[in-house]
Parts: sequence; C-alpha cells; structure tokens
Amino acid sequence: MTQLRFDLARLPDEASLFRTEVRAFLAETLADFPADRRSYTWMGSDPAFSRKMAERGWIGMTWPKRYGGGERSAFERYVVLEEMLAAGAPVGAHWVADRQSGPLLLKYGSEAQRREILPGVCRGETFFCIGMSEPDSGSDLASIRTRAERVDDGWRINGTKLWTSGAPHCAYMIALVRTTVVEGQKHAGLSQLLVPLDRDGIEIRAIQDLAGNRHFCEVTFTDAIVPEDAVIGEEGGGWAQVMAELAYERSGPERYLSCHPLLTELVRHLGDEAGTGARERTALGRQVAHLATLRQMSVAVAGLLDRGASPALEAAVVKDLGGVYEQDLPGIVQSLVREAPRTDDGASDLQRVLAHLMQNAPSFSLRGGTREVLRGIIARGLGLR
Ligand SMILES: Cc1cc2nc3c(=O)[nH]c(=O)nc-3n(C[C@H](O)[C@H](O)[C@H](O)COP(=O)(O)OP(=O)(O)OC[C@H]3O[C@@H](n4cnc5c(N)ncnc54)[C@H](O)[C@@H]3O)c2cc1C
Repeated sequence: MTQLRFDLARLPDEASLFRTEVRAFLAETLADFPADRRSYTWMGSDPAFSRKMAERGWIGMTWPKRYGGGERSAFERYVVLEEMLAAGAPVGAHWVADRQSGPLLLKYGSEAQRREILPGVCRGETFFCIGMSEPDSGSDLASIRTRAERVDDGWRINGTKLWTSGAPHCAYMIALVRTTVVEGQKHAGLSQLLVPLDRDGIEIRAIQDLAGNRHFCEVTFTDAIVPEDAVIGEEGGGWAQVMAELAYERSGPERYLSCHPLLTELVRHLGDEAGTGARERTALGRQVAHLATLRQMSVAVAGLLDRGASPALEAAVVKDLGGVYEQDLPGIVQSLVREAPRTDDGASDLQRVLAHLMQNAPSFSLRGGTREVLRGIIARGLGLR
C-alpha cells in the first residue's frame, strides 16, 4: 500500500528570522486595511500591493535569478505566504502566477517562455489565470472539449473555459486543451497552451457568485490564434503536466488560512469578553491544534515540492482536511460569540468577517477540486479503490 509522506519538517532558523521582516512590512503597508477586506486574503486582488511585494523580491522568490527570481529557499517563501494570509493581505493578483504558473513554466516551459514571461511575474506586473474547468467538465477534467488545431501561423482555439478566477486582470491563461482526439482515451491528446488573453477571438465575461462577488469568469475562444511555440512542455503530455500543477495548487497554506482573519477576530473578541470560560477556551484550543497539524502537513509537502517531487496524493489530503477545518470555523465562531453575521454600518469587524466567510466558505470545497473528488484520489492513491 502507498504510504503518505508527511515527514516532520521544521522551518529553518533563518526562515523564522525573516518572519520579523515580513511582519514589519505588513504592519506598515496594511496599517489602515479594514478587517472585512482582510477576509478576502488571496481572493482579494490589488496589483499595487503585488508590486510592493515584488519590490521586496517576494514574488517568484525561489526561482533562478536569471529569470528575475531571488533563489531564496522554499521555507522562506512559506513564511511570506503564511504571514500574508494570516494578515489577510490582498495577494490575489499575483497568487496563481507565483504558486503554479511560474513553477509550471520552470518545470516544463521552454527557455524562451521562461525568459519572456517570468521576469514580469517577479516584478508583479504579469498575472496568470487557470484555464482548466469548462461547462460540463469540472471534476471530470479529462473530458474537456476546447480544441486547438494546428494552422499555418500557430494554433487555432475554439471552446469555452469556465469559473476562471481573476481573468480580466491577467495577461495569460495556461489553458488545458485537446490538440488530438484519441478515440477511447480521453487522457491522451491533451496539451497545455500559454495563451495571451489580449488576442482577437477571446471574450471574457464576469460571473457574479452567490455572495455578489465577480471574481470568476467565462472565457470564450472563437478561432483565437496563438503562436506555434505556445505549447508548454510536450504536445499531448498535458494530462501529466496538469496533475503536477494541481500539486502546487492544492497543498499551500491558503488551504487552511483563508479564514484566518476570522480566527484573529475571535481571539480578539474572546480576549475582550469578561465571560470567556472553559467552553470557549476548549473550542479555541481545538481549532489551534487543527491549525498546527495542518501547517505541519503543508510544510512537509512544501519540502517535497522543493525536492522536485509531485506529491499529488499528500496535496489532496492537505486540501481536503484544510477545507473541512475552514468550513467548520464560521459555524464554531457563531456558536461561541452569539453574534449574527452583518455588514451594515453598525456591524463590528468580527460580524463583517463572519458575514463574508459564511457566504464564501461553501465554495472552499469546490475550488481546486471538490471534496468528493479529492477523497476519490486519496482512496485510489492509498490502494483502497
Ligand atoms: C471559487 C471558485 C474558483 C474557481 N476558480 C477556477 C479557476 O480559476 N480555473 C478553473 O479552471 N476552475 C476554477 N473553478 C472551478 C472548479 O475547479 C470546479 O468547480 C470544480 O472542479 C468542480 O467542477 P464542476 O463545477 O464542474 O462540478 P461537477 O464536477 O459537475 O461536480 C458536481 C458535484 O458532483 C460531485 N462529483 C463529481 N464527480 C464525482 C465523482 N467521480 N465521485 C463523487 N462525486 C463526484 C462533485 O464532488 C460535486 O459535488 C473554481 C471554482 C470555484 C468554486
């Protein structure tokens, strides 16, 4: 039976020292940043904030210097991510490029693609979105129908991508497309294309979610042409590459820190309350224990990724457990503080953050792969099905 690899990894001392610098930056830069905006964390986009991080060298910070990176360690990067999320910093603009598109290009991209694209990402100027899901193809990703056909001047793309987060502010999408139809083998014939979103024939339409936000989009391709060298890695090798990409997408600290500003507000609230007793302390302690364990598991995956492994199974475990933790938190908070979620003028910070997360947390077990699908991957990985 396959073993899960969650080696106990400890952040090295220099990474911990670096934490002080990151906290000082955040205290200064986000001094007046309101609590309810903090609750968006990596779903909150602010290109100016991304550029401030870039000036510090905190985007693409582990990448080679020849592509604009900082050649810092994966653990130092982990510290930056943790602190940004814990503070609720608006890191969404560059998040996908830093987390998965850049690493994917480093792993599979051509030298020309890396030299052209990565320096702009490191400067906080070039943002990416994820072109995987389509109408009727989400969990069953290999059933995608967007086609790219070879033409004289490159590839002609036709089809629709759906739920594409942040597309309007992105220069590029990495799109999973079908370049060859192989009868009876849906995982074959898929390729990843580097798609500049300013091309003719590409239409981006924002979709309003249940909470009234407009962060994801429908992106339609009608005879859109991208150059011959837009293929990332191997033509037809898209399935293996996309699986490697999902390991980056599923294991990071955003999978258990999306709700952290709510935990911060809870601690603040309970600290101020005269009536805080054993029930509240026990509940809070339980949440912190979960958090510490999730962090340990996520750091272990960061170590595996840093050593060049593709820990898709462990990443699925982190995302699933992180999602359970995050989705439980709003209900737990409400039962402890007996305050209703509110967003009106008289609402407290805690009520505003609670209102945001009550409405948005249900989506946490959908984005990046649904709970049921992750559990299927885990069961298969462990040889249980
Ligand atoms: C906030 C948010 C942001 C997103 N951003 C992006 C993005 O930037 N780019 C992108 O490409 N996609 C994005 N997505 C899409 C996301 O990846 C899909 O919604 C997800 O993969 C599920 O696909 P679906 O919506 O088609 O649902 P379906 O796959 O139709 O699933 C419907 C239900 O059936 C269940 N189900 C499906 N198959 C199985 C199975 N084999 N076994 C058991 N149960 C099953 C699912 O768990 C789910 O409950 C985003 C989604 C959300 C919510």
